[in-house]
Amino acid sequence: MIGVISSFHQNSYCSHMTKLENYISGNWLTGDGEGQQLYNAVTGDVIAIATTKGLDFAGITDYARKVGNPALRKITFHQRGNMLKELALHLRKYLDKFYKISYQTGATRADSRVDIEGGIGNLFTNASLRRKFPDETFCIDGESHNFSENNTFMGTHILVPKEGVAIHINAFNFPVWGMLEKIAVNLLAGMPCIVKPATVTSYLTEAVVKEIIASKIFPEGALQLICGSAGDLLDHVTSQDVVTFTGSATTGLLLKSNPRILRESVPFNMEADSLNCIVLGEDVTPGKPEWDIFIKEIRKEMTLKAGQRCTGIRRIFVPENKMEDIWKGIAASLSQTTIGNPLNEKVRMGSLAGQTQRNEVKEQVQKLLASSQIIYGSLDSVEVVDADAKKGAFMSPLLLMNENPFIAKEAHEVEAFGPVSTIMPYKTMEDAVALSKLGKGSLCSTIVTADYKLAGQYVIGAASHHGRILVLNNECAKESTGHGSPLALLVHGGPGRAGGGEEMGGLRGVKHYLQRTALQGSPTTITAITNVYQPNAKGKDPGKHPFKKYFEELQIGDQIITEKRVITSEDIDKFADLSGDHFYAHIKTTDFTGTMFEQQVAHGYYIMSVAAGLFVDSYQKNPVLLNYGIDELRFTKPVYPGTEIYIRFTCKEKLPNDKRIVENPEDFKRGDDIDKGIVKWYVEMLDDTDEITGIATILTMVAKQNQS
Ligand code: NDP
Repeated sequence: MIGVISSFHQNSYCSHMTKLENYISGNWLTGDGEGQQLYNAVTGDVIAIATTKGLDFAGITDYARKVGNPALRKITFHQRGNMLKELALHLRKYLDKFYKISYQTGATRADSRVDIEGGIGNLFTNASLRRKFPDETFCIDGESHNFSENNTFMGTHILVPKEGVAIHINAFNFPVWGMLEKIAVNLLAGMPCIVKPATVTSYLTEAVVKEIIASKIFPEGALQLICGSAGDLLDHVTSQDVVTFTGSATTGLLLKSNPRILRESVPFNMEADSLNCIVLGEDVTPGKPEWDIFIKEIRKEMTLKAGQRCTGIRRIFVPENKMEDIWKGIAASLSQTTIGNPLNEKVRMGSLAGQTQRNEVKEQVQKLLASSQIIYGSLDSVEVVDADAKKGAFMSPLLLMNENPFIAKEAHEVEAFGPVSTIMPYKTMEDAVALSKLGKGSLCSTIVTADYKLAGQYVIGAASHHGRILVLNNECAKESTGHGSPLALLVHGGPGRAGGGEEMGGLRGVKHYLQRTALQGSPTTITAITNVYQPNAKGKDPGKHPFKKYFEELQIGDQIITEKRVITSEDIDKFADLSGDHFYAHIKTTDFTGTMFEQQVAHGYYIMSVAAGLFVDSYQKNPVLLNYGIDELRFTKPVYPGTEIYIRFTCKEKLPNDKRIVENPEDFKRGDDIDKGIVKWYVEMLDDTDEITGIATILTMVAKQNQS
């Protein structure tokens, strides 16, 4: 029988074995049976047991769909984003606890920072993305299109949360980041999730989930955790679910071809083995800063997380005449790396995640050795500090050399998921591009060069085969986040062998969990449904000037038509003098033969300024606090002297604006204490034939009536 743990208990993970708990259907449960033993990667001691035997996987997915999904769907992007922020702040309080557990995965403090604080950073970034969404449970995606002559029929797209559950099957190397970078996105989208970390390091994921659940920040059912085998979980997926997978290509293929996934057309995002590469530009010579940058980047990538990074550099391409100097430089740099117990502050490289992983890496190296030779490190021995090299999963960094990379292909096909990299020569940039592609699709590639032309040649030539490309040189090296770090606002994933998936990438990532639906109808109907004013929709009489209304009072579609103003040649001259913009089209003495204009034309910015003069409710103080910009501005028809201009001014969209939290009184800025919202206004500038001469969306901050 499955045990229900009624009260939250904290595992020490130090001296005794603990059965990990699964968080299922609102309870912490331990599975049946003896389970899988999990080891401290540094000492080899058994520290926990993982089992999911006896769990009702159908019930788990059902619970997420029936309890978690409705709770998340009904709250807005802003509410979901604010929960992510609260969670990030909450988890920061437990860093010490997480770091302590993380050491047992073989990770140094620097490795753990990437995993733990990198994961929390990802929550913050995704929380901030709420500002790019409306304060609604759904959103519009992209542009609207008018499909009719009389402006009564249009189309756009909307995105709504899928009604299923996101299932994340993760790899062992980032037990925290791997979870947080994924759940941040589905939770922001409004979907619940089930996380299945790789069993071997699941004790760290469990510890983090315990704090997440205890915080009660997310509604019940939003997150469930499985520590151990996924059982028949995937046999219960439905068409409204999403599955993500990070791990080996073999497992990925197996799961992706699950008949249920195929039959139900379940989106399956895969991130698998990737033979990432780095290229040294032909321009880089010893003594140039890029020479050292190249060596440093390789050393970092080989030793951070003991090379167990999906983005790790596996292939190094170097101009053939620089091979010897470069490999000697890399070898010298690697020899500076202290390996051993990550608790020792001098240690720069810890152990692999376990003996199984070490054995697998060694087997893969044997395959690579069919066409390469080891030029740095040893496959059989490693010097370690404060640890037993045999009991712990330690390994020496290995630099291999393959002198015929177009003929001997192992380095482009075999991934050793550890501190292993193969250096190979190339003759021309075309060769470097071609070699990079032999990996058949990677997560990322780096070129180190100070030559913009070479950089362009490589980037445009190789981009089809890499999910991300870093161009590294002295201009950016100091502040660069590095080859190996995926960024929450940029896409992570790669074509072909890398799995063909895409995750993160800012808004792009959130959209994987939303259904996109084309929506057609009249502009007024679509305005009513989406709560965003659509061009050509009917306006509403606001009752008073909309600038006199507080944020809560304003309604989408509140519209005024202003008085008219004649544009004169004298005013155009004055605007030219005042702004200094004496472009020939605005000067009345210009000979207009061969130009786009018949005569002196008003500056577009003058018409926009006139528009403000017409729509602004002048002199009196009102709830509009400030105008902070223009989202889009187009001038669509020339305005000549004598034209009468008037403005149709409509409340387009309302967005919340969180009050800034000011911890230090010295940081306080005027306005920080005002409760306010953002209001977008649609401005149409019309002439005396009622034709539009320009449009703009202007942004204002409007005070709320109810100040907290
Ligand atoms: P695996 O493919 O063995 O495992 C990945 C995940 O899949 C784990 O959570 C694993 O669970 C789960 N899994 C395995 N079999 C099944 C199944 N039948 N049904 C459901 N889930 C299953 O990869 P590893 O974690 O061992 O990593 C090995 C390789 O993965 C590396 O050598 C590397 O090539 C690649 N990798 C790629 C990464 C990337 O981001 N691209 C990152 C990390 C690794 P369990 O642990 O319980 O077996």
